[in-house]
Amino acid sequence: MAERVIPEQVRQRLLTTLTRQLGDAHVLTAPAEMAPYLSERRGLYQGQALAVARPGTTAEVAFVVEACREHGVPLVPQGGNTGLVGGAVPQGGLVVALARLNRIRQVDPVNFTITVEAGCILQAVQEAADQVDRLFPLALAAQGSCQIGGNLATNAGGTNVLHYGNARDLVLGLEVVLADGRVWNGLSGLRKDNTGYDLKHLFLGSEGTLGIITAAVLKLFPKPRQRQVAFVGCRGAHQVLELFARLRAAAGDVLTGFEYMSAFSLELVARHIPGARRPLAGEHGAYALIELSSPDPAADLGGRLEAVLGRALEDGVIVDATLAASEAQGQALWRLRESVPEAQTREGGSIKHDVSVPVSRVAEFIERASAACEQALPGIRVCAFGHVGDGNIHFNLTQPTGMEKQAFLRQWGAFNRLVHDIAVAMGGSISAEHGIGLLKREELRRYKDPVALDLMRTLKQALDPQGLLNPGKVLPPAD
Ligand code: FAD
Ligand code: ZN
Repeated sequence: MAERVIPEQVRQRLLTTLTRQLGDAHVLTAPAEMAPYLSERRGLYQGQALAVARPGTTAEVAFVVEACREHGVPLVPQGGNTGLVGGAVPQGGLVVALARLNRIRQVDPVNFTITVEAGCILQAVQEAADQVDRLFPLALAAQGSCQIGGNLATNAGGTNVLHYGNARDLVLGLEVVLADGRVWNGLSGLRKDNTGYDLKHLFLGSEGTLGIITAAVLKLFPKPRQRQVAFVGCRGAHQVLELFARLRAAAGDVLTGFEYMSAFSLELVARHIPGARRPLAGEHGAYALIELSSPDPAADLGGRLEAVLGRALEDGVIVDATLAASEAQGQALWRLRESVPEAQTREGGSIKHDVSVPVSRVAEFIERASAACEQALPGIRVCAFGHVGDGNIHFNLTQPTGMEKQAFLRQWGAFNRLVHDIAVAMGGSISAEHGIGLLKREELRRYKDPVALDLMRTLKQALDPQGLLNPGKVLPPAD
């Protein structure tokens, strides 16, 4: 998208208006102060901006949006800037950083809800829930720095989706500043409300293109009192999937985590992560990391798990398994899974895909996509891992040993085509967790149903007719 040219006079007038309202300290223009807001950690995109505004209240956010509208200046909402697809990187215009909107407004343990402002760090929300003996289940590796507003704007996932759902499923109400500067107060804590369109879903997952989320009412859950973690070796992905189906049928609601690790992903962790130890004696074709948890301290989770695993062993579905004997051992098993991205980085260049297919087709997807990639580039090493229980596989590719890293990364587009074609042909999606941002815009154009894309453009036009909210993100430029 062509960048809008903002005349210097307009910039100055806008900055004067903003500074008068927010104070000098909260309108950043010095290059060194702005730098952290202009790129993200993978460094795929370098942005530029007129300034960074740091409003401290919803009314101030509305003021900033209204001022931008008046001056015709685009704006980019930014949370913790951990998004990884370029969604929060500005391409001109104003960055609106939400970090100062970080109040927990209300906790209602009986309604099982918490009302928080968008700039609250995810971990702070988890801790506030914990203080009233409740669980806020959204959990991801970036939880110490990402913000709940960013989580909702990207409909974040993570490792608890199997039982508790995506970020979208955890929201009862929203407060949003619209492109025209009005505030929509939809902070309802109702579990039932059938009064017309469910507007919150427009903004959840919209990556800052339809409105700025300033607060949310989130669902809380009973806190688990115990958990049981196991690590299982199988011959391959098909057996892992079969085990998943058996466990889900037998354990139902207490199955709160079911993750997949390919043999190669465990090998990388064992090789590169200090202190990581293979949990099983032998090596196997594929692994499952399983977690059962329950708010009932008397529930016999270990017994239930052993029963299913015992039968699976007899039937040849699994080859070996270990049950964590303590919380610390459980955490060590989880660390193996969580360390895969870091281990992969240490092994060299990686081309990443974040796809989903119907759960029943996960194994077939891994098989087909692996074969296609290995045929396209002999020596390529498939590092597949992820949330089997959600049908979401991080289908990452590690460069062949000895190949030059940049030469490998130049093939990213070709491998996108291969992998995404297979996922979509199987009824899948090209983006299961991280959204579209800038990185996958053209893939969206290619794969999204044209009628759906057209409806998305209609909504964008209706809610942001001047095209000022996070322009150039998500929606591909018109043909
Ligand atoms: P940002 O990066 O600041 O913004 C992301 C997008 O949301 C941008 O388009 C931005 O404009 C928009 N936005 C931000 N705040 C608002 C707001 N208040 N209103 C409107 N729009 C807004 N993602 C997963 O889904 N699952 C994972 O397991 C996961 N693991 C990760 C692990 C690591 C180590 C890292 C670095 C990232 C991971 N991510 C994961 C991606 C990322 O953390 C999430 O997408 C997160 O939800 C982004 O939050 P943020 O506050 O950093 O948002
Ligand atoms: Zn993930």
